[in-house]
Amino acid sequence: MTETSKNPIDIQKFPLNSEEHTFKSWKVKYEQSHILHSKCSKEGECNLNDESNLCEFCVYSQKVPLPQLPDMVFPKNVLCIQNSNGCELNFNPLDALMLVSDKPMNLEIACAGAWKESRQESGYLGRMIKPFDWTFTTEYKGTLKGNWTVENTNERIDLEKLKVKKSILFYHDLTLFEDELHDNGCAVCSVKIRVMPNEFFILLRYFLRIDNVLIRINDTRIYHDFETNFVIREYTARQGMIQEIKVPSYVLTDPSAVSPHVPLIKSCFEKLSFPSASGDSL
Ligand SMILES: [Zn+2]
Repeated sequence: MTETSKNPIDIQKFPLNSEEHTFKSWKVKYEQSHILHSKCSKEGECNLNDESNLCEFCVYSQKVPLPQLPDMVFPKNVLCIQNSNGCELNFNPLDALMLVSDKPMNLEIACAGAWKESRQESGYLGRMIKPFDWTFTTEYKGTLKGNWTVENTNERIDLEKLKVKKSILFYHDLTLFEDELHDNGCAVCSVKIRVMPNEFFILLRYFLRIDNVLIRINDTRIYHDFETNFVIREYTARQGMIQEIKVPSYVLTDPSAVSPHVPLIKSCFEKLSFPSASGDSL
């Protein structure tokens, strides 16, 4: 099913794609559309005191405490997985960007050293010194809505089991935001989902590559077996200096390929439980 946006501003150039499917007691839905405008689309007429009527640009300006947004933000790219009991996993760029630090980064020294050695034009550096996190690093793990219970767990997602070939009932990936760091690499935040007959798996990934300097990968993996009343959420943060990551250069541009070579610096394993769907007996 593909719908077209009713919004008169967007309708000509940027149709809104969306799909919605039901798997067991879950509704899986995504929306996908154009990048964020670079200025108020109501020509400055938005009343900042009336949140419900703001254009997307003004919503981002108000809620994201950064002097600058990534080159490409896809405000309509939203993935939503909702149980019939109302519990929802939601993935959207606004919540991801609200977690980016508005404090300086202290990466300039590493960049200056590496770029000097690689004879990269030093003019780049001046453009990269900014009083906020210009890598847009986020520890976003998705947005939970509804009556979830979150606890730490020793349970792990069986990644080997996920590698076994099964029929895929639904697959989609969405970019939430992306920045090219003035041609010095890239920062991308994206989310993918795949639904199989008995389970679903989501990978939310923030990937940063600063050329000749550093790789950073913040992954959130979410797994649900339809027979259970919980999902497992695993968060890992990896970071390594490119000089120390011994891989061919083409691997550096492929997050999945480079990931195992990048040191793990942080991890968090959680069980997110939800009440039985209404009507189910206990
Ligand atoms: Zn506006």
